[in-house]
Amino acid sequence: MPVIDFKCKKCGSEFFEIAAHDEQVECPKCGSNEVERVYKGKYYGKGNCSGNCSCCGGCH
Ligand SMILES: [Zn+2]
Repeated sequence: MPVIDFKCKKCGSEFFEIAAHDEQVECPKCGSNEVERVYKGKYYGKGNCSGNCSCCGGCH
């Protein structure tokens, strides 16, 4: 499953979760489920991976 970047609409905290596409995610700081997904292409494109990231799902 992909690591997805989330941002909490309530407190503004940004965090990562390994989540299924339709999985409900809660903010780890305030517990709000009003979070939005922040899609960043680098997590899905192997070409941009530095090789040291822990977010690419082990593409190396
Ligand atoms: Zn929050």
